[in-house]
Amino acid sequence: MHLTEPSDGTPEDAARAEQRHRALDEDHKVCDAVASLPAGDTIHAWVTRFALLADPTRLTLLLCIHTAGEICVSDLAVAAGLKDTTTSQALRLLRAQGLVATQRAGRVVRYRLADETVHALLHEVADQPATL
Ligand SMILES: [Zn+2]
Repeated sequence: MHLTEPSDGTPEDAARAEQRHRALDEDHKVCDAVASLPAGDTIHAWVTRFALLADPTRLTLLLCIHTAGEICVSDLAVAAGLKDTTTSQALRLLRAQGLVATQRAGRVVRYRLADETVHALLHEVADQPATL
């Protein structure tokens, strides 16, 4: 009978064990990453929000509305330095996507923020220095 040395403890086995451990660790990272992903409709909602915010005109209007609370189109156009038509066009899109809502008082229509998530993001925009 031939006796072999136990394979534990040799440098080669330690390296292999470390490799296996790393592979398991990577598996956990992949599992954690997959498990933390929100549902597809949540991802879609965020993509829509970011797309709407990724426009200087719309972002400026949203910041003005945030500061004003409620504001009509012509005042908003003056505040943002935009034409009334440009302002109206942007507001139509923001309203259709639920980022702003309107309140009518007689003939005057005032806009206000309607999405609390975007409201919170606007605080970040207003409070953070512009570094990128
Ligand atoms: Zn606020």
